Amino acid sequence: MSYSLPEFLAHAVALEHEAAERYLELADMMEAHRNDAVAAIFRDMNRFSKMHHDEVKARAGALELPRLKSWEYRWSAPPEQGGEEAFDYMLEPYNALRYARENEMRAREYYRSVAAEASDPEVKRLAAEFAAEEAEHVAALEQWIAQTPRPAMAWDADPDPLQPAP
Ligand code: ZN
Repeated sequence: MSYSLPEFLAHAVALEHEAAERYLELADMMEAHRNDAVAAIFRDMNRFSKMHHDEVKARAGALELPRLKSWEYRWSAPPEQGGEEAFDYMLEPYNALRYARENEMRAREYYRSVAAEASDPEVKRLAAEFAAEEAEHVAALEQWIAQTPRPAMAWDADPDPLQPAP
């Protein structure tokens, strides 16, 4: 998909805004269950997403960004386990971190595909830059996942189909 600059920026703003909101929810959830260490990680991720959102808005400046009706790179919903179970499932820091990682990987793939397909050189440049930022977020989450005990009921959802198995 080859976007114009305003189209691309509109998607980036939406993506970062959604990431910021999801991280805030995850942080509150962890905090409510006294997992301050993991809550702090999600608060940091929330801050990074907000900063990125603001940078993209600044980059857009006076450009008028199109309104997006819907798009395919929204965060995926947490795994459906039904009722109370789904909630318990996401309370496991390991599962919450894996969920965040999967969505960061989706963002990275999104920016990579835009960078690969863009005909506008500025879109190409920015998308490559954003993909590199998302790759850093994925790496940060992977470090935390490696240090987090794997629960009995672990997140086993398939990674994004674009990705090789971890
Ligand atoms: Zn990110």
